[in-house]
Amino acid sequence: MVARTFQRIAPMIQPGTRTQDIDDAVRDSIVDLGGKALFLGYHGFPAHSCISVNEEVVHGIPGERLLQDGDLVSIDIGIESQGFCGDSARSFLVGSPSSETQNVLDVCRAALAKGIEGAYPGNTLCGLISGIEAVIQASGLGLVKEFVGHGIGRTMHEEPQVPNFVSVDLKKRDFELREGLVLAIEPMVNGGTGGVKTLKDGWTVVTRDSQVSAHCEHTVAITGDGPRVLTLGPGESWPPHKDAVGQ
Ligand code: MG
Ligand code: MG
Repeated sequence: MVARTFQRIAPMIQPGTRTQDIDDAVRDSIVDLGGKALFLGYHGFPAHSCISVNEEVVHGIPGERLLQDGDLVSIDIGIESQGFCGDSARSFLVGSPSSETQNVLDVCRAALAKGIEGAYPGNTLCGLISGIEAVIQASGLGLVKEFVGHGIGRTMHEEPQVPNFVSVDLKKRDFELREGLVLAIEPMVNGGTGGVKTLKDGWTVVTRDSQVSAHCEHTVAITGDGPRVLTLGPGESWPPHKDAVGQ
């Protein structure tokens, strides 16, 4: 349902589209598919999706902002159906972005891909995360440390937390990944430093230096055959096709 909703809204990612109209389409899709929006009302969040444009990192509130040529827009959608939760964020480029913006998105996608690659039985949580961290560090771009991925299943946020860097604290609670664990892996990459702050609306997280940011997330099951990306839709595969939109 999450992936199919992304497929439905992807054609709206164009200059001149109001972010509120994208959220309305997300709402309509969730209703049509028979799911329940996980974000609406979550700690009071006022929308069905998070839409974060350019310097907005995560938790952007859809509204009157119009997408413009060259923007990078990150959309995060969570849906519950039949007692299980799916959570995914895709970042899209609007029109013709600068090479710097393209690079931020490319690095974020590569970091997510590396994290997914590490989601196999016998690897450790720190092993998975160190792959994500290495990709972002090698790029010289900003790694956001304040927000993390998570276990997901019957509820949206379950143990363990899945940061995008390895800390001393994380090493202390490291463990071996086992078949059946499902993780939402979600790197956030900034064009400048990793520094972020939350706006007065209490939700929207922006880069401190106003540089562009990307956020890419999939819900991934660890299986005996390796990682299985659960938030893929019809016609999508992992790793994505070169010309896949938003994946
Ligand atoms: Mg999410
Ligand atoms: Mg998440």
